[in-house]
Amino acid sequence: MMQGLEKREVLVVGGGIAGITAASQLSSLGIKVLLIEKDHFIGGRGARLTCKATSHCMKCNYCLVEDALRQLSETGNIAIKTLTSIHRLKKSKKGFEVTLIENPRVIDPERCTDCGKCLELCPYKGKGAILTAPSANIQPFYSIDPQVCGCRDPRPCEEACPHRAIDFERHQEELSYKCHGIVLATGFTPYDPSGESRYGRGRIKNIITALELEEMLRGDEHFSPLNGTKKAKVAFVQCVGSRNPKIQRDYCSRVCCGYAIRMALRLLESQPDLDITFFYMDVQNFGKDFQKYFFGAKEKLKFIRGLPGDYYQVGKEKVRVSFYHREKAKTVVEDFHLVVLSVGIGPNEETIATLGEPLGVEVDDMGFFVVPQGIAGIVAAGTSTGPMDVAETISSAKASALN
Ligand SMILES: Cc1cc2nc3c(=O)[nH]c(=O)nc-3n(C[C@H](O)[C@H](O)[C@H](O)COP(=O)(O)OP(=O)(O)OC[C@H]3O[C@@H](n4cnc5c(N)ncnc54)[C@H](O)[C@@H]3O)c2cc1C
Ligand code: SF4
Ligand code: SF4
Ligand code: SF4
Repeated sequence: MMQGLEKREVLVVGGGIAGITAASQLSSLGIKVLLIEKDHFIGGRGARLTCKATSHCMKCNYCLVEDALRQLSETGNIAIKTLTSIHRLKKSKKGFEVTLIENPRVIDPERCTDCGKCLELCPYKGKGAILTAPSANIQPFYSIDPQVCGCRDPRPCEEACPHRAIDFERHQEELSYKCHGIVLATGFTPYDPSGESRYGRGRIKNIITALELEEMLRGDEHFSPLNGTKKAKVAFVQCVGSRNPKIQRDYCSRVCCGYAIRMALRLLESQPDLDITFFYMDVQNFGKDFQKYFFGAKEKLKFIRGLPGDYYQVGKEKVRVSFYHREKAKTVVEDFHLVVLSVGIGPNEETIATLGEPLGVEVDDMGFFVVPQGIAGIVAAGTSTGPMDVAETISSAKASALN
């Protein structure tokens, strides 16, 4: 431990892989850490990804998040507050004076043993009254959303809990907190294609985003959009919400070529008769061993250079895609059973407005936090500073913590 650091205290804002890594790094230096997460669970978007291994590891980084969560649960010396965010923040002589808002946690993490009895008996579980963490390495594994819960007293979950961990009477609290430094690890917002009508979100049935595909692959059950269709045709459309000046996003999101190729290969592994086409501008070579997977993918997937212009529903089950075919030198149409939009990484605008602007934290042309910050005591880490994958996020968070 470095001399004197044990007297320092740092607030880490955001419990994704960036925040978890920064918190662990600081704690290993003997610095006291409070990690706050506005959601019910830590883990961020990384914990909601899926392992993309086929018969062998695809180096997709998902297990790096699991490793970090496991280590964090074993460390035990980092204070974590979920459902908590910054309400007010003031720079003081010695650091920062912060007012935190802690929303009520109906389940007491100190008492809950993750037995799952509450979920079994909850009549509103289908609506999401009791939520489960995205990873078994997150404790407590259960959380109750009082906004969704529809029971009145006596509540079945409260009665079922053998450890009296459930209390609906807890209220929101305002906490005063002082620290010497702040790590902003508030992550990114995935691009939402519903703003561009041509993608037909909500109108065309079998167009989904890569995030939705991640969710489905995580479930690992029967892959519903294809309904067991034999020789189904699937299209991946790259650069959705990236490299497009018309929507003020002319940057590359860096992660979507890698995740889309890995997901396509993973789909093929479970359904070898799939016919998968990849519409792209040019493939970005980011991430470990990417070239190896790309060359392997070229033998198994069809690559078409150019992005589709329009999408139409055809019958009940198909999407018609029109695109310019370079070799044929004309626009052609092709029907697919499923179209996956490879959505990119955008800034977390809400947090930048509520946190970054009052603090005077600079943002770059793309809207991400600038590193290193010109303000003493504040650093930003991970995707709050720009598009990057999990492995790069870990490196970025370690470097930021050392600052
Ligand atoms: C579709 C898709 C697929 C991907 N697939 C892969 C892949 O296969 N491999 C890979 O390496 N990467 C992949 N990525 C990228 C990966 O998701 C990111 O690299 C990683 O999640 C970044 O972690 P982070 O901690 O920076 O941000 P996040 O995961 O966004 O975490 C930020 C956390 O901060 C919290 N937060 C935000 N604001 C506040 C606030 N004001 N107060 C408190 N908490 C706050 C959020 O709730 C969240 O929990 C993918 C991305 C997308 C969009
Ligand atoms: S009170 Fe009812 S709806 Fe609410 S969490 Fe408990 S069992 Fe579910
Ligand atoms: S019944 Fe109680 S101890 Fe069991 S998971 Fe639910 S809250 Fe936790
Ligand atoms: S990583 Fe690939 S899909 Fe994503 S924006 Fe860059 S070029 Fe497009």
